[in-house]
Amino acid sequence: MDLILASQSATRRRILNSARISARFMSPQIDEENITKSLNAEQAAPRDIADTLAEHKALKISRKNLDSWVIGCDQILVFEGEIFGKPASREALKDSLSRLSGQTHRLITANVIYKDCKPQWRHIAISHMSMRPMSAAEIDAYVAAYWQEVRHAAGGYHFERTPDLFSAVRGHWFDIMGLSIGPITGFLNQTGTNNPYQSPKLAAVLGHPIAQSKSPRMHGHWLQKNGISGDYIAIDIPSAHFNNTLNMLFDVGFSGFNVTIPHKEHALAFADHMSPRAQRIGAANTLIKTDSGDIRADNTDGYGFITNLSTQSETWQPKAGPALVLGAGGAARAILVALLDAGVPKIYLSNRTRARADDLAAEISDLIEVIDWQDKEDVLSEVFTVVNSTSLGMMGKAALEFDVTDINPHALVTDLIYAPSETQLLKDARARGCEVVGGIGMLLHQAVPGFEAWFGTWPEVDQELEALMLT
Ligand code: NAP
Repeated sequence: MDLILASQSATRRRILNSARISARFMSPQIDEENITKSLNAEQAAPRDIADTLAEHKALKISRKNLDSWVIGCDQILVFEGEIFGKPASREALKDSLSRLSGQTHRLITANVIYKDCKPQWRHIAISHMSMRPMSAAEIDAYVAAYWQEVRHAAGGYHFERTPDLFSAVRGHWFDIMGLSIGPITGFLNQTGTNNPYQSPKLAAVLGHPIAQSKSPRMHGHWLQKNGISGDYIAIDIPSAHFNNTLNMLFDVGFSGFNVTIPHKEHALAFADHMSPRAQRIGAANTLIKTDSGDIRADNTDGYGFITNLSTQSETWQPKAGPALVLGAGGAARAILVALLDAGVPKIYLSNRTRARADDLAAEISDLIEVIDWQDKEDVLSEVFTVVNSTSLGMMGKAALEFDVTDINPHALVTDLIYAPSETQLLKDARARGCEVVGGIGMLLHQAVPGFEAWFGTWPEVDQELEALMLT
């Protein structure tokens, strides 16, 4: 089937790609402003205006591509019977946000499919968007932060960038994004394609900040490689709005999430059920919507950590003897539980802030002995596993001052840090004859159970993925 999307929107293109629908993309160049003006003068209903604009776009491309199926689409924002366009200035954006704040507006998404210059199918989706009340100071701060980004967006927002602006939404993610991909795949399947299309499943990583996350790249690679209809994005959510935004994202169609700093404890509290390992760790990094609609929390960090060691090393024996763990932050919690579950008989735990290590040991197991930060080298001759779970040694951060002269040469040394891929700790330990394992494998393996739960396939961790993630 030769399919054309009559749109220059990168978001719509991404939606079509995520559904594994191959299409050409063409920009229809119609005079939207004048068409809207004349329809407004005729007092046309907003949904008819969106529908007509979508038709104009599809028809324009169809005229020169008679044998192709052409998708045209348009989206308008309506509040109190008025169509809100792109804000003309910062002041106009402030005005429009103060009108929408605390109110519910509609997003009307029109989709049409043309062939031989004739309409074949049409669909209109209406999403009800309730914006939470915003103070004048909040609006000012928003405009200062986002003006450049949202100046071409109707109403002055991109839902995917700032979902926390909303208190409730009735609608589906893809309709809100501007293309009703579920109904479109339904229609295309009726036209007799050999491989039926599926509406894409959705997952995301949530954090604050989140721009640095490599998870979208990893999951995007697996989706592409396995030919799965789905998308995985990064969404920034400030802590104050975590629960409400999460509820809303599940409502608009997400199957689940990875959760990172600072939301891991909140995520555990949010869920209806938790896995035993998430409960023991006291934090969740994975949320899954089950078939019954309940939300299940899991923590796969420990799984990722152990799988990384057991696949990278042929000799590592957790039961061989004690371990030394440096750091008592969020990652250390998962590492301690995972090491004990794997059979490590005793763990020395050392952290700059000793009280944090004392709390962790008291909470997790009396097999953990806390040692002072300045004494951490003293146990090196008796340990068989050494783990750096501090942020020291990371590119751009302070170095880990750690003298490994006395290290047991049979110890396996691992660093959670993966940038650089081989830290100074690993270099020093290797020079002393120790086996060393870098942190990238943990990042890859911890993502596997979530991917399977959301997208239905157990993905492969291979060198291609590792290389992709280290670039
Ligand atoms: P976190 O909760 O912020 O904990 C940071 C830890 O580093 C704390 O123990 C902290 O000690 C210590 N630290 C920071 N600066 C220090 C300094 N100047 N001197 C001594 N200790 C210092 O972070 P996290 O979530 O546990 O993550 C820790 C590291 O693991 C990060 O580099 C993260 O990127 C990495 N990580 C990797 C993976 C992976 O998949 N490979 C997964 C999770 C985390 P205090 O308690 O004294 O502040």
